Amino acid sequence: MPPRNNNRPGNQGRRPMFNMYWMYALIILSLFALYYFQDGTHTEQVNWTKFEQLAQDGCITTIIVDKQNQTAEGILNDKGRKAIDINTEGIQGDIKVKSIIPSPDIVAEKIEGWNALLGANNLKPITIEYEEGSDLAKMFWYFGPFILLILFWVFMSRRMSGQNGGGGGIFSVGKSKATLFDKNNKTNVTFKDVAGLAEAKVEIEEIVEFLKNPQRYTELGAKIPKGALLVGPPGTGKTLLAKAVAGEANVPFLSMSGSDFVEMFVGVGAARVRDLFKQAKDKAPCIVFIDEIDAVGRARGKNPNMGSNDERENTLNQMLTEMDGFGTNNGVIVLAATNRADMLDKALLRPGRFDRQIYVDLPELTDRIEIFHVHMRNLKVDANLDVEQLARQTQGFSGADIANVCNEAALIAARNNKQTVEWSDFMGAIDRIVGGLEKRSRVITDDEKFSIATHEAGHATITWMTQYGNPLVKVTIVPRGRALGAAWYAPEARQIIPTQALLDTMCGLLAGRAAEEVFLGQVGTGASDDLEKCTKIARSLVIMYGMSNKLPNLNYNDSTGQEYGFTKPFSEDTARIIDEEVMRIVNEQYERAKEILRKYASEHNRIRDLLVEREVIYHDDVQAILGPRKWKSRTDEIMELNRKEAGTPPPFSGKGKDAEQN
Ligand code: ATP
Repeated sequence: MPPRNNNRPGNQGRRPMFNMYWMYALIILSLFALYYFQDGTHTEQVNWTKFEQLAQDGCITTIIVDKQNQTAEGILNDKGRKAIDINTEGIQGDIKVKSIIPSPDIVAEKIEGWNALLGANNLKPITIEYEEGSDLAKMFWYFGPFILLILFWVFMSRRMSGQNGGGGGIFSVGKSKATLFDKNNKTNVTFKDVAGLAEAKVEIEEIVEFLKNPQRYTELGAKIPKGALLVGPPGTGKTLLAKAVAGEANVPFLSMSGSDFVEMFVGVGAARVRDLFKQAKDKAPCIVFIDEIDAVGRARGKNPNMGSNDERENTLNQMLTEMDGFGTNNGVIVLAATNRADMLDKALLRPGRFDRQIYVDLPELTDRIEIFHVHMRNLKVDANLDVEQLARQTQGFSGADIANVCNEAALIAARNNKQTVEWSDFMGAIDRIVGGLEKRSRVITDDEKFSIATHEAGHATITWMTQYGNPLVKVTIVPRGRALGAAWYAPEARQIIPTQALLDTMCGLLAGRAAEEVFLGQVGTGASDDLEKCTKIARSLVIMYGMSNKLPNLNYNDSTGQEYGFTKPFSEDTARIIDEEVMRIVNEQYERAKEILRKYASEHNRIRDLLVEREVIYHDDVQAILGPRKWKSRTDEIMELNRKEAGTPPPFSGKGKDAEQN
């Protein structure tokens, strides 16, 4: 066999290096050495006759009998040291003689005899001690604490090195945990996998371009941005966009999550930030991506001693310094994603750090169609599936929700042994995602069914009869998830919400309880969720939007979460007025709901009866009873257009994300 060449290039990575495990081995070895050469004692093996002789001659002070190993050790006195034939020079501790014994009992008897003899000669008697347990147990008692200490050390260093792997142990705690994507470890996500988000894509593609052709910009004197912040609700594709940048840019991409900087040791976060930026500068041109940056980038508190996290602030300070530290044109671009840009420290957002903020919003209708197409690529869907209609029914869904709908639909189709995923599977998936699993097995009495139907018919009637009520899609009294019944709506995508829209929404929410009072004469617990939502709207109407009569144009809300700390931004008197206003607004809407219901009592009752009979009714059924809506919403218009185009009323059994339950 040829000799192993450790200097081969391939072997370089395996060169023996200093490793923490060597250290452990060394510590253990030294402990063993300590055990055997401890305190300078010396033990001489002798036979039993010699041992007896020494004892009789008064050469032994103490005999230690080891019952388990059937041995005895005798500690020699000065006379004994002289009597035995060894060089005792340099031995500071005790000198012992050790011998195998006939049996512990015999030794005990013998010692009694020897002591009588020694007593007669005016010599000191021999004391006897017994040693229980094996060598192993002795060793355990001796080493136990050290071994435990070492195990604790190993455990701690492993925990601190976390997923970092490697044998760095405690010494790698300050290393950043960034995942590197480069030529060897590519993500296979490209911009094609990111559907919709046209504006965000343009901006982010430009960043890729900055790295690929910096001269094009620098020749004109432009500075390349240092960072871009992706902001938007959860699941809208921020991380996906960043991954696509990694896939497209062909430059190293370091990805890390904000929470990876956080550790229980002081200074570790800052060290990791330093390490991350050092790595980035070494690999430039490159992109650094920090997901969920709010974990470290949250605004620093005014009073650092009052519950604020110093360690997090140190980490943030380090990040601010690092982002200032590299020049604009040295090829490192920092991308970060967050759901809460309002919580971030202002210093982080100023130009020169994150120069650009890219908003990644919930997808619009056309975007949703594209997202459906992306996620249907791997599904066997029915050829006649109307994707556009699906997208319409998923108003308010994020990209992640849509991905979930597609997967859930495929699971439902597979459960029913279908060859392709059909419309009804998608509908089932949407229903399930919004409302939870259908619980037809839940036992509901006729009385309960009647009161649930009254409640749901109340919601349906009021939303139909108010200007800003969202277009109704479906009403059901089949229990789903925690809800006993539900009315689903396709909420309008409004950018600015007028006061009346908030009031109408509240009226619609209170309609279930109002119907119970008007038509059943008593109210039940079923409306608690509605009441919670309604009270929240009323509160924000007063303290956030400044829409109440008594406290107009005032906003007591602190969107940064930093301003007021433990104090309220208003006086006790104002607090009372806020309570009164919230109560007044809710009461007014409740009375309004009851009034509308009394006016349309017969229509309400017909909807209720239909519900009791069929359990699920749709938009068209309600329209047949209440007549066409006076106020046409955009969705209504689209639906009507659809119907005209198709020639027949399409089955409309989906619902919007913000469906009001109960
Ligand atoms: P969070 O803020 O919660 O981290 P996010 O905005 O980073 O969420 P992603 O992790 O990017 O969301 O998206 C989750 C999943 O949703 C993706 O893996 C993808 O399957 C799907 N998705 C989201 N947006 C899109 C989109 N525009 N096109 C295709 N798929 C999308």
